Amino acid sequence: MGQPRSTALSRCDILVIGAGPAALAIAAELGSRGLAVTALAPADPASPWVNTYGIWAEEVDALGLGHLLSHRWSDCVSFFGAGGGGGGVVGGSASEGQPQDRPLHHGRAYGLFDKAALQAHWLGRCASAGVVWQQGKASSIRHHQEGSTLTTCGGQELAAQLVVDASGHDPVFVRRRNDGPVAGQAAYGMVGRFSAAPISPGQFVFMDYRCDHLSAPERLEPPTFLYAMDLGDGVFFVEETSLALAPAVPFAQLQDRLRRRLAQRGVELRELLHEEFCLFPMNPALPDLGQRVVGFGGAASMVHPASGFLVGGLLRRAPDLANAVQSALEQGLQGEALARAAWRGLWPADLRWKHGFFRFGLEKLMRFDGPQLRHHFASFFSLPQQQWYGFLTNTITPAQLLAAMLRLYGQAPWDVRWGLMGQRGRELSLLARWLLG
Ligand SMILES: Cc1cc2nc3c(=O)[nH]c(=O)nc-3n(C[C@H](O)[C@H](O)[C@H](O)COP(=O)(O)OP(=O)(O)OC[C@H]3O[C@@H](n4cnc5c(N)ncnc54)[C@H](O)[C@@H]3O)c2cc1C
Repeated sequence: MGQPRSTALSRCDILVIGAGPAALAIAAELGSRGLAVTALAPADPASPWVNTYGIWAEEVDALGLGHLLSHRWSDCVSFFGAGGGGGGVVGGSASEGQPQDRPLHHGRAYGLFDKAALQAHWLGRCASAGVVWQQGKASSIRHHQEGSTLTTCGGQELAAQLVVDASGHDPVFVRRRNDGPVAGQAAYGMVGRFSAAPISPGQFVFMDYRCDHLSAPERLEPPTFLYAMDLGDGVFFVEETSLALAPAVPFAQLQDRLRRRLAQRGVELRELLHEEFCLFPMNPALPDLGQRVVGFGGAASMVHPASGFLVGGLLRRAPDLANAVQSALEQGLQGEALARAAWRGLWPADLRWKHGFFRFGLEKLMRFDGPQLRHHFASFFSLPQQQWYGFLTNTITPAQLLAAMLRLYGQAPWDVRWGLMGQRGRELSLLARWLLG
């Protein structure tokens, strides 16, 4: 191992750590406000991203970025029946009790980012804004009254008025409260060609919770669902997903369930083009908003705790953080005061309240068994579109969110209401099931 390299201290207004979606989004936004931004990443910022990013099309259309989607589906469905003609309620209104395998049509378009185009879009904006790239891995940081000095693993020192940590879900500097085990969204996916279409041609399947490929004991285990897309030219993306669980569902189990789900429909993999192993924390606590390093993206707990979406939030919220930083600098704020103003811009009271509410909801859902979860989602997606869409994308106000949840509670079947009531509700539910045979 070599000795740390000592180089001349380089200074900037803002130092952004990372080169993932969050880092590029915030570096571009800060740079476009005339601030001197340096970004630090361990590798070439144009190195291809590995994850696939899906999003409700309206979110990107609203920002004028619809052209960054490689695919767009208007036929978007979910399945909330048990499958195979077993008991349970399927999509549509939960109270209608429709046939088992009928899809629920969401009536909204879903898209898949062309991730190279998304990355190029942000890198282009960074270049126009004069963002300077440094190669290296952040290792330690010292704070002083006017700013911070970061040292890389290679010994390089970078000084800035404010450091923004966008190094992902396991951040290098941002600290969060330890609230106990964090639930992980885990998924195993395959892009490939199959002996037959695994889903209807031209379709996007958001959640297929049918479970007729599982044995009776397996149906008592934490439920998983299929997320799938027809990518065209005979290629499909199929992914077995666990919404959230602590500890996360192991990849081997997801892989096995996906194979059996496909086999149940007489579908075999013919050619594997790509495999995806997806695991990220769903419900980390909010960061400590008094700390000197400001976070963005996974580092700042910005993943939607009930849906797992992040990219739409990055696009919408980067301007809020950038505006807060710009205005604080214009007021001459420094050090701790600057960081506090930036955190307040990123996590204002309404977003903090909703984050707490979504986490609370996810904790309830994680305790649901398979039938309860299917009944819950059937009810949830029979809410007016603006309500379920606003919930999933975090684009509704706290008052609208409360109204949606009250409506959901009012229209949900009793097993879901009992589940939402917690332990006492579960006892009542078991008693009712026993009494009703
Ligand atoms: C397989 C998968 C699929 C997903 N699909 C979706 C989806 O469809 N839609 C959605 O909204 N969300 C999705 N997510 C969730 C979320 O969007 C991603 O996890 C997203 O990549 C997080 O973005 P980020 O920029 O915060 O972190 P990352 O993408 O993890 O980027 C972190 C960056 O920081 C750099 N870095 C790390 N440590 C250091 C250091 N010490 N010094 C300097 N740089 C450092 C890394 O090299 C990297 O460039 C998915 C996640 C996964 C894992």
